[in-house]
Amino acid sequence: MFLEQFPQDGKSHGWIEVICGSMFSGKTEELIRRLKRAEFANQKLLLFKPKLDNRYAEEQVISHNGTAFEAIQLDRPDDLFQFWKKERIVAIDEVQFFDNTIIEVANTLANKGVRVICAGLDMDFSAKPFGPMPYLLSNAEYVTKVHAICVSCGVPAQFSHRISKSDKEQVLLGAKDKYEPLCRSCYNKIKHN
Ligand code: ZN
Repeated sequence: MFLEQFPQDGKSHGWIEVICGSMFSGKTEELIRRLKRAEFANQKLLLFKPKLDNRYAEEQVISHNGTAFEAIQLDRPDDLFQFWKKERIVAIDEVQFFDNTIIEVANTLANKGVRVICAGLDMDFSAKPFGPMPYLLSNAEYVTKVHAICVSCGVPAQFSHRISKSDKEQVLLGAKDKYEPLCRSCYNKIKHN
């Protein structure tokens, strides 16, 4: 389990944490776990998500297990600076849906001493790196990859298989109705059938 390593030299250090993995791997649960710990310690934080994600309630990030946190929905990554009042923690959920300008935003915040926590899908349904994720993973000080469980054979799963074959666009919002987590060998079997 990821444990925060706070520098003890009294300086304002910033860094980037990335939580990545497939659908149903618990990324949002892990993000919320870190935020709850920070909130309990009275650390000021902000949570953002891209505006296109309206699967559950507006203005909240709700994990699949139902825990909720207030979130500000952004059209564009740099709109974030309109809301940021020097909070030392900035969290971004579903970060893969932002364009690549999120990379500079995350680094700018970290350079200013902010702990930036990003959660997102590392791969799309066709197993390609998703949007800005490769860059964020490279720039991050800490990377946590979480896994789902393969619905076909029960071993750790890292692929988000899209159940419907007719939908080819990269962004197709949905949950259990549209996707299932598969391990490498089960994903390959389905892909080559
Ligand atoms: Zn499997």
